[in-house]
Amino acid sequence: MIEIKEFFLKRSNSYNYYKTNYNKLLKENELLNLKLSEYEKECPICGYKGIDFRPYPQIIHKEVECPNCYSHERHRALYLFFKERPDLLRKGYKFLHFAPESMFYDLFKNREEIDYYPVDISDENPFIREIVDIQDIPYEDDFFDLIYCSHVLEHVVDDKKAISELKRVLKPSGTALILVPINGIAFELPYDETKTLENPQYNTPELREKYYGQDDHLRLYGRDFKDRLIDAGFKIVSDDFIRNLGHEAVDRYALIRDENIFECVK
Ligand SMILES: [Zn+2]
Repeated sequence: MIEIKEFFLKRSNSYNYYKTNYNKLLKENELLNLKLSEYEKECPICGYKGIDFRPYPQIIHKEVECPNCYSHERHRALYLFFKERPDLLRKGYKFLHFAPESMFYDLFKNREEIDYYPVDISDENPFIREIVDIQDIPYEDDFFDLIYCSHVLEHVVDDKKAISELKRVLKPSGTALILVPINGIAFELPYDETKTLENPQYNTPELREKYYGQDDHLRLYGRDFKDRLIDAGFKIVSDDFIRNLGHEAVDRYALIRDENIFECVK
């Protein structure tokens, strides 16, 4: 029996061809016993292994959602990030987590050695400890050792105020991990990718969907997003964790290579 790689390469050098035709080819050629590991996807969070992740509406990346734990690319990337950086969560650390996602809540809630603050603007999120408006954070200056805020700022009216609040409550020795969807990376909309698009006239769900890619987003960030962090006084320690994981990991875990995890200090 020939090796699966050789078999598919014979038919086509295209990995996409392989993916599209996998089921058909599998039946036709009784390949059930061949090794698939080389092509296999893996979710580092829940351990799911399979041919593919699920696509997700409106998002340009085709392999988004884990069919088992519903993680998206950024969750898998952040999981790998946290795994690599245990220094960010030492004993006694205060950790502010905005709009906690279930898979991360599960990861942090039982870590009794850390002081965990999962918070949200609404009490609809079952995983929260307190209702917190990110534009007016009810904690004192220099309070948190770690802040994690992913895909929140695009929903917030005054994101500049929100970023300055994040900086205010972060300890001088602390770290803030900030992610937003950026045009040309998370979205592919036909507007200048270098500049954030924001227009008060785009004030209906339809217009927001058209210009910002999602009806509850209040702007479409461009690659200038990091200037908002810098203008607020943050220093960006790194933003290329995912790219540095290398092609193989990006492919296996279905990550977005250019997605930035902004690791900020003040
Ligand atoms: Zn998963």
